[in-house]
Amino acid sequence: MARIAIIGDGPAGLSAALFLAKNGHDATVFGKDETAMHYAMLHNYLGVEDITGSEFQARARAQVEGLGATLLDAEITELAVDGDAFRITTSEGTSERADYIVLAAARPGAKLATQLGIEAPKDGIPTDDEQLTSVDRVYAVGRIARQHRSQAIISAGAGAVAALDILSREAGEEFADWDSPPSED
Ligand SMILES: Cc1cc2nc3c(=O)[nH]c(=O)nc-3n(C[C@H](O)[C@H](O)[C@H](O)COP(=O)(O)OP(=O)(O)OC[C@H]3O[C@@H](n4cnc5c(N)ncnc54)[C@H](O)[C@@H]3O)c2cc1C
Repeated sequence: MARIAIIGDGPAGLSAALFLAKNGHDATVFGKDETAMHYAMLHNYLGVEDITGSEFQARARAQVEGLGATLLDAEITELAVDGDAFRITTSEGTSERADYIVLAAARPGAKLATQLGIEAPKDGIPTDDEQLTSVDRVYAVGRIARQHRSQAIISAGAGAVAALDILSREAGEEFADWDSPPSED
């Protein structure tokens, strides 16, 4: 079981946490529920009709916790490499180690990326197609990687992309999180 620290609790971070926790990993989301979603009225999230961003967040947070992720009401102030893992420190001075980091903190998270030596230009942290940054095992998802043209569904999709890469690496083979309905017989 890998330990994954997800920094940021908007749709990008919660989506990464959903896939990781659902598949048995130790996923912790850090954030204070101060996402831009609280200003949004969604009419453009596929499969979900007319929902406030706040209601969307409440449902998403409950769903992710129900699947076993931990949501911590905390702001992260420092990231560092710690041996073969990473150390994540909160504004209250507590810290935890993680095997992977998923940066989902929108623009305020850029300074955290630079602490790990990751370049963070204003228009977004560069990543590869799996949302991996220039530092191995550190991903950037959602608005932190794509400052402009930001949409909730794009952030959620990016979180899922990063999670699938982590799940594939941990499984040692390509991984897809596919389920089917129970058969009727
Ligand atoms: C007025 C308005 C209306 C909008 N309407 C729509 C709409 O109709 N449809 C749509 O698709 N999108 C809409 N959006 C955009 C939508 O809100 C964003 O696309 C979405 O919130 C991006 O998700 P994200 O997870 O990438 O980042 P965010 O939702 O911004 O989440 C980032 C989270 O990280 C947290 N964070 C930051 N720094 C730290 C730290 N150091 N430690 C811990 N946590 C940290 C933040 O507090 C925040 O909770 C709207 C936005 C606004 C402002």
